[in-house]
Amino acid sequence: MPTPDSPVLRERVIATAMGMNALGINHGRSGNVSARIDGGFLITPSALPYAELRAADIVAMNHEGAASGARPPSTEWRFHRDIYAARPDVDAIVHTHAPFATTLACLDRAIPAFHYMIAVAGGDDIRCAPYATFGTQELSAHAVRALEGRKACLLAHHGMIAVGDSLESALALAAEVETLAEMYWRALQIGEPATLEANEMATVLEKFTSYGKP
Ligand SMILES: [Zn+2]
Repeated sequence: MPTPDSPVLRERVIATAMGMNALGINHGRSGNVSARIDGGFLITPSALPYAELRAADIVAMNHEGAASGARPPSTEWRFHRDIYAARPDVDAIVHTHAPFATTLACLDRAIPAFHYMIAVAGGDDIRCAPYATFGTQELSAHAVRALEGRKACLLAHHGMIAVGDSLESALALAAEVETLAEMYWRALQIGEPATLEANEMATVLEKFTSYGKP
């Protein structure tokens, strides 16, 4: 398990934050990224442009939410802390305001199994957590609940969260969720797409599990 000082992990957190914007799944500095370390997690700081981030700007936090470093942590540190506490399978978290995912979230719409790749998020839908003010404990509780048995969720009137066992897998999942959100949004322009049945999604989920990846 990396320590709070890990320069390599700090650089990977920065690279992941820049990767969100390079992939077009985040704009400006609205998103945030974290990675689990021994005793807590590393998280992007509040309000600094990603391109200006240096390893020393990344904030180390413990499980009680105490920060150490020169910068204040992202205002969304509570849901990062609480997801790590609730989910031992999660070692990295990516939060973005990806345009298509956020468009659906602004309509309080979960993404159903309109496409089999929904299973990449761990189940037969991608839930939309109810709205709560950014940075609050209430939002964190909603996010943890929406992520139960899942690796991604939408946040109503806000954005999305993707988690993984590495920064790379969390970022890749965030990009996949945004692609699915865009396809669902496009389908909704023409009609209401049918959803795959539960037993078919169970088959897909089983194949994903046994192959490790789709
Ligand atoms: Zn946000």
